[in-house]
Formats: sequence, structure tokens, C-alpha cells
Amino acid sequence: MKVYSRQKPLRAELERLRQRKKKIGFVPTMGALHEGHLSLIRKAKRENDVVVVSIFVNPTQFGPKEDFKKYPRPQSRDKQLLKKEKVDFLFMPSVKEMYSEGYSTIVTMDAKLSSMTKVLCGKSRPGHFEGVLTVVAKLFNVVNPHRVYFGQKDYQQAMVIRQMLADLNFDIQMRVCPIVRDNGGLALSSRNKYLSVAQRKSALAIHETLRWVKKAVSRPRKPSLSAIKSQARARLKGGGRRLDYLEIVDPESLKPLKRAQAKMVIACACFVGKTRLIDNAIIRAK
Ligand code: AMP
Repeated sequence: MKVYSRQKPLRAELERLRQRKKKIGFVPTMGALHEGHLSLIRKAKRENDVVVVSIFVNPTQFGPKEDFKKYPRPQSRDKQLLKKEKVDFLFMPSVKEMYSEGYSTIVTMDAKLSSMTKVLCGKSRPGHFEGVLTVVAKLFNVVNPHRVYFGQKDYQQAMVIRQMLADLNFDIQMRVCPIVRDNGGLALSSRNKYLSVAQRKSALAIHETLRWVKKAVSRPRKPSLSAIKSQARARLKGGGRRLDYLEIVDPESLKPLKRAQAKMVIACACFVGKTRLIDNAIIRAK
């Protein structure tokens, strides 16, 4: 595995491979890798000749009171894992390498054209998706991949990036891969490292609640979505948890739904102690 911290030499090397008609798959991450990340990497390995992984904890997607400083950065462990997966290139730039002094351009979705970045996580984390879109666009310009791999775990992020790819004419195919969970059903996340044993147990209620909602909307005599949502929110009360949001939304526009429809997404963000966890499920009503 070749490791690069500078964009120029990586760019040059990947350009040579592209000219030799090699297909390039790219998996952007913030590191502290787990099986969720590895599932994306394995899919990228199956579908491409060359796989590039980036590890970059992007400061512009963190709010001022969020965990940018304490976000886990187990560099040598991450490198070991990627070597084991036979990843070809690892890009680990510094903040300076990605954001040159005086940078002034950011990628924003126009709120007049779409509310996608203003709902769910966008509402609780102002500026978050601007940071995500900006860094992802920059990374795509460095790597120039044929295919990119994202997790359904961050459903809203995947949808927002998909929209940007179309809007800004990126010639890139996007794959969204299923959520990887631990044995108890907790969605794997680098932030799970912050949880104590008791908090981890309490966090299981998130997935349990999503499953309960899935069942509730599939019942033959469907109760109203608002009744289902309030019951679901009540289920998440207590146990050291504080609900940020629980919504049932349209899978494309991410707008909250009043009535059940053929395909829906239930999305949830919940603090367990100080750790903010997100999860979601796609519901196909029968
Ligand atoms: P992160 O390092 O948290 O920015 O995540 C990098 C990529 O891995 C994103 O596309 C995430 O959606 C994806 N990812 C994170 N956790 C999981 C998971 N449990 N299952 C599947 N994909 C995941």
C-alpha cells in the first residue's frame, strides 16, 4: 500500500493508472476504521482495479462545540487494517494540505432549491453538510475516481452527495452500501468508542426503535405516522438518552411525511450521554 500525504504525487500516479484504463474506486473516511468502512472497501476492491482510501478528519464539517479535537485517530492501527485489505493507495492529508491559506470557496446546496441539507442532521448541525460537500468535492478532484463508495449509515449524507454529483456534472458512479451492525444491532460507528458499557447497552434502543417503527407502519390497519412517531420518540426517552430527532421522510427529498407511502426512510439521531449517534432504516410498505 502506498501512503500519500500530499495531493500532487497521488494525483500524478492515479492519472497514469487512468491512462492505462484502470478503474479507480475511492472510499473517503475519517479513519478509526471498523467493519462498516471495511465493507465499503471490500466492495470497491471487487468492482475496481485500483482502490484508494482517504483518512481525513475534516474540520469544516464539525461545529464549534463538536468533537473535532477528540475524534479518534488511531493511525497505525488503521494503516494495518488497510494493508490487510490490500488497499492500493491511502491518502492522509493534513488540514493545511486540504485547505490552503485563504481558501474562500465552499460547496453549498441552495436552500431555496432544496431543503435537503436543512432537515434532519442539517437542522441540528448547521454548516455540517457544507463542510461535507466541500471536502468530498475536493477529494474527488484529487482522486478523480470512476466509482465512489458511501454507507447508508449516513443516509442523508449519501443523498446530498448524490445530488451534488448530478448538479456539478461529476462523471462518477456512486454506490451506497448497507449498514453494518454489531451483534446487538448497534450500527458500527467510530463514535461508539466513546460509549461506556452501560451506554452501549442503552444505545441498542435506537435500532430496536427503528425496527418497531418498521413493524408499526407495516401493520394492515396503519395508525397515523404522527402517532407512530410519538410512540417511537417515547420509547427512546430515559436510559441516559436524549433524542435529537426521529423522523419518517421521503427517501429522495428527505421531507418529513404525513402519510405512509410505498418507500420511506426512518431516520434518527440520539445522544447517549454526550455521544451523538445516528441510524436509519429504509421502509418499503406492503
Ligand atoms: P466516516 O469515517 O464516519 O466518515 O465514514 C466513512 C464512510 O463509511 C461513510 O460513507 C459512512 O457512511 C460509512 N460507514 C460508517 N459506518 C458505517 C456502517 N456501520 N455501515 C456501513 N457504512 C458505514
